[in-house]
Amino acid sequence: MDLASSSANPNFSSPTMGGSITSSTTPTAAASSPSSTPSRYENQKRRDWNTFCQYLRNHRPPLSLPMCSGAHVLEFLRYLDQFGKTKVHNQTCPFFGLPNPPAPCPCPLRQAWGSLDALIGRLRAAYEEHGGRPEGNPFGARAVRIYLREVRDFQAKARGVSYEKKRKRPKPKATSTPQAAPPPDSGAG
Ligand SMILES: [Zn+2]
Repeated sequence: MDLASSSANPNFSSPTMGGSITSSTTPTAAASSPSSTPSRYENQKRRDWNTFCQYLRNHRPPLSLPMCSGAHVLEFLRYLDQFGKTKVHNQTCPFFGLPNPPAPCPCPLRQAWGSLDALIGRLRAAYEEHGGRPEGNPFGARAVRIYLREVRDFQAKARGVSYEKKRKRPKPKATSTPQAAPPPDSGAG
């Protein structure tokens, strides 16, 4: 008599290796602790701030921080474009709107909108940390916001990518109505 129940399954992993998954309930790393090691964000922010201050020092005519306006911030952003690595096609380029162009083209490299947007956020914070008043923050200027929006829209078109965030479609009524009643039978006549 054979017990024909020997189904050899080499990949069978026995559940006997029961390492109990213990979830540590200890509160790890308080969120806003003034730690001595600056975060990556803080490092980046300091670098950005230094870059901007250097830009001011080299500016002709000379610029001091209190003299800085949104227009100067825009100047700075355009200046940064020469170091950009993002191909942004001109509207006249045949690859305009293609996410993956099949051939090289002479369109310029620019700073990607996402980089600029994040940069402005960091500089805006740094400005106030260095004693600047929020009301006069050139990085929060309306012109800068408008510029960033234009860059975003243009790059989205030029590169065929969409920066639209997933947004919940607003439902006018979230009530759970069972089912719409069938339309009343309209008598002809
Ligand atoms: Zn191109």
